[in-house]
Amino acid sequence: MSDRLAENLAKAENSLARFKSATLQHWIDGEPRASSAGETFDNHTPVDDSFLGSVASGDADDVDRAAQAAARAFADWRKMAGGKRRALLHDIADAIEARSGQIAVVESMDTGQPIRFMAAAAKRGADNFRFFADRAPGARDGLALPAAQHMNYTVRQPIGPVGAITPWNTPFMLSTWKIAPALAAGCTVVHKPAEWSPLSAALLAETCHEAGLPAGVLNTVQGIGERAGVALTEHEAIKAVAFIGESRTGSLIMAQGAGTLKRLHFELGGKNPVVVFDDADLERALDAAVFMIYSLNGERCTSSSRLLVQDTIYDDFVERVATRLLNIKVGHPLDPTTEIGPLIHPRHVEKVRNYLELAEAEGARVATGTSPGASEGNFVPPTLFSSARNDMRIAQEEIFGPVLTAIPFSDEAEARRLANDVRYGLAGYVWTGDAGRAHRFAEGLDAGMVWVNSENNRHLPSPFGGMKYSGIGRDGGDYSFDFYMETKNICIAHDTHRVPSLGR
Ligand code: NAD
Repeated sequence: MSDRLAENLAKAENSLARFKSATLQHWIDGEPRASSAGETFDNHTPVDDSFLGSVASGDADDVDRAAQAAARAFADWRKMAGGKRRALLHDIADAIEARSGQIAVVESMDTGQPIRFMAAAAKRGADNFRFFADRAPGARDGLALPAAQHMNYTVRQPIGPVGAITPWNTPFMLSTWKIAPALAAGCTVVHKPAEWSPLSAALLAETCHEAGLPAGVLNTVQGIGERAGVALTEHEAIKAVAFIGESRTGSLIMAQGAGTLKRLHFELGGKNPVVVFDDADLERALDAAVFMIYSLNGERCTSSSRLLVQDTIYDDFVERVATRLLNIKVGHPLDPTTEIGPLIHPRHVEKVRNYLELAEAEGARVATGTSPGASEGNFVPPTLFSSARNDMRIAQEEIFGPVLTAIPFSDEAEARRLANDVRYGLAGYVWTGDAGRAHRFAEGLDAGMVWVNSENNRHLPSPFGGMKYSGIGRDGGDYSFDFYMETKNICIAHDTHRVPSLGR
């Protein structure tokens, strides 16, 4: 065992002790609270399935307590001056930064994600708070729309208490991506984190509280999607739900929210193409394609899970990907040299492994990495399916593991057809040395986000989100405020127009 792994294990042991020794509670109205029915669920680490502690399992009563607390807190929080809110959200960002080492090891042990990525993700959580903090004072800003005899102007107002429902892949960072703009807009929040990764949400609630966030402004209800999640999406006091997760869960939430006419924002699944033309810088394309599918265990919505390569270079390029597989290091997530850790849960591992069998049945060639330990526990080795066709299930379905499907194409028209011939439309990556083609191809891709000659490169003011089954709505910059706020038009007469009269 390397010294750095031993050091991280000791840090993790310290940080996890409290979770192992006492039931992790909800965070409601500024305090840790047990479930009203006293129910709990067990949490295990994907590293070796050992026990990480028991967690309060919320039901409709717990969600109601949290939603009522959020509704009470909304009255003052919405009125707080933007500058004051900015200062408070910056304090939260500083507190996250100060705890980022602890957050990262806890997140790695709870999700199996390598520490090299979770250390950066914890800091990105702080960046999300800083970015939206700075926008808080301007969140209300609207437009002046003068007419001949009236002045119209718009203001934005926070929509009310909102729900945030988040998944288990990079849970801390993704939670801040939803919660920071909601708070900056003046909304209060009830957060329901994923049941397979409950720990970092508790650290977030605690950190916000310690930094001075008033009671009830952020509430966290732990629990199972089908119970706590359903109750949140159906609650009358919750005016909008921001959801990140699977497309089929999005459909359920749309139905669950119908009775209370919820405003919904969905960031859902993807089967994103990375399209490599033979005139591209192939070394950079190779690095980016490999990074975008095998980083974060492949458990990443924007992963480049379909590799479309021009037939003139297909064999050579795919061979080079296969060679990289042999060097990718699979191992303990707290080892700083690890590139792929264990997948989140035995049920997810089974799903991913089933695709390895399916690939052979569908007639694709399967190559896997050979890293030690890769066939044990929740570990799935980096895998490449080649000689695949786009109509195979391995090319159409989101696998959400370190698994890449490679498909050849002959020309630009075929590449576009294959890239778009999928139900999802989250991200697309294009590699070409031809500037005209880059523009044409990006324009024609059915995807909410296109990166040309780049891996996924985040820029917080830019819109983030998907088309088709990949989502509804956009996050980032002002787009987030459009979701968390109502736009109100105020029209004031110059007292010069003729007011129509009846019954004079
Ligand atoms: P999931 O849909 O199973 O669960 C997500 C959350 O929804 C969890 O908190 C869960 O408890 C809750 N939930 C489940 N059923 C619910 C219901 N009926 N009502 C309310 N809440 C419910 O997703 P997952 O497996 O946790 O996450 C992986 C998925 O998330 C992948 O499809 C991935 O592509 C997607 N994702 C998308 C983005 C994006 O930005 N587009 C980002 C990250 C992850």
